[in-house]
Amino acid sequence: MSNTLEPGDALQHGRDYKVVHVDDARALIFLTGNHRILEVDAATGGRLERGLDNLTPEEAREWSLLRERGALEDVNRNVLMSSSYEDGSNLALNVNLTGSCNLDCTYCFADGGDYGRITDKMGSHTVDYIFDFIRGHVTRSRIVRFEFFGGEPLLNFARIQQICERSDEFSAETGIQFIHRISTNLTVLPKGAPELMRDRHFIVSVSIDGGAETHDRNRPTKAGGGSFDKILANCWKVREVGGDAVTMVARMTVVSSQPPLIDNVKELWGLNLFDYFQIYPGVTSGGSCNGGEGLVQLGTKNTTKQTMNIDFLSQLEVLLAEYPNLFQPGNRFKGGLEYERLMQMVLEGKMALGFCGAGKTYYTISPDDSIMACHRMVGEVEYQIGTGPEGVTRDTSEWTLPVDQHPVCSNCWARYVCGGNCRQENFVATGKLRALNEETCNYQLSLLAGVLRLIGRTDPSFRSRDRHRLDDLFVSCGRPVVPNSRREREAALDGLRFFRPLPAALDAGAQNLLG
Ligand code: SF4
Ligand code: SF4
Repeated sequence: MSNTLEPGDALQHGRDYKVVHVDDARALIFLTGNHRILEVDAATGGRLERGLDNLTPEEAREWSLLRERGALEDVNRNVLMSSSYEDGSNLALNVNLTGSCNLDCTYCFADGGDYGRITDKMGSHTVDYIFDFIRGHVTRSRIVRFEFFGGEPLLNFARIQQICERSDEFSAETGIQFIHRISTNLTVLPKGAPELMRDRHFIVSVSIDGGAETHDRNRPTKAGGGSFDKILANCWKVREVGGDAVTMVARMTVVSSQPPLIDNVKELWGLNLFDYFQIYPGVTSGGSCNGGEGLVQLGTKNTTKQTMNIDFLSQLEVLLAEYPNLFQPGNRFKGGLEYERLMQMVLEGKMALGFCGAGKTYYTISPDDSIMACHRMVGEVEYQIGTGPEGVTRDTSEWTLPVDQHPVCSNCWARYVCGGNCRQENFVATGKLRALNEETCNYQLSLLAGVLRLIGRTDPSFRSRDRHRLDDLFVSCGRPVVPNSRREREAALDGLRFFRPLPAALDAGAQNLLG
């Protein structure tokens, strides 16, 4: 069947747009070049999946109309070329406070906390290096986020206090503002910690994998006992003292399907304790994991073998189907961080400048004064990029090369949302930072497709939720995200029969598309 498409219209499914079926009757088209979504009937979606040549003449006429009216504009590529990470993220410093940890997690990437190299707690002298580093690397926002990390960072609480106090003096001197975030197992809660968290509006990211059964299996103490009850008791203490001043995140790692992820999420959700959830598949290799019940067969470096739980994607689908029901009056749940970020990029016209901030706006400094691009790579000495006294001394471009310069990612429909995969997860699977871990790449694709389906199922009020806080919350290791400048004023698309904007109060661009 011939249609009326212009000869130059060479957009390809899977590279320039993606069809996602919402149900038997409806599908969404996601446009890679500007992140717009349009609703189509399932039959039209099916034809688009086979290529633009398969559109009926009437559909092709409307497609040409979309182009004439600017809806197919290719803005993301240009924004990527003309922007730098500093445009889209604050400086984030991961402060690796100690190699000590009191847990023995089955999937630990840090060799039990010390990465095989960190023998001491962070000392006072490193604090000077930290603030020198900030002077040299603060981004245009003049906001710096501390990520207190370890080992278990609360085992070096004195240094956290010192850094917090120093940040006050530093702010007074330079005007630079600080956000304080901690990644903790919260099995310990030193005297004064809840008050410090309250007074500085901490984001407290608690590693908790679900209900007691799942959590205690994944995250036993070094003595072999469970840690769930102790952690929950400490979470409640932080909430009692901190109230709404503390933002609490449940950081869940998924390595098994029993009990199912959705049950684990609902159990934690039911406590009405956590503001956000952050849910990741555990990515392990033979070299970084001590095994344990529930783990899938492990991959090894220089292969592309399995590094994720085999059921993770199907569990994610179940979770996303249930996701809108987690927003309930009376429950403080405000979202899954990664899911909300992806929705924001689509609905508000934003794009990623890279997968994460590592090597440009995100660094890790450890007690041995080493500087690394990625907190999970502290044990890989050959990837060290600098030291406290010298600052960054190595080229970090391998960490930050734009997605359009990657041979595979540059042809991927999700590229301006994903940004090009986690370098450390690539390293675990292939031994190289830029050679793709196919499983985690597939996870990024499935996640975005799942979020698009979710958008298609939800109503305008859900789609137009306020998501502005995400910039402060260290989503996806500080993924730099900027507005993609899709045009704000375009001819109305209402009245089109085949390609319909979703009815929603979305961003200004989409609003205006509605006329
Ligand atoms: S990592 Fe995978 S999903 Fe991400 S841009 Fe590359 S090919 Fe696409
Ligand atoms: S996204 Fe991956 S490479 Fe980037 S900082 Fe996080 S773990 Fe490291």
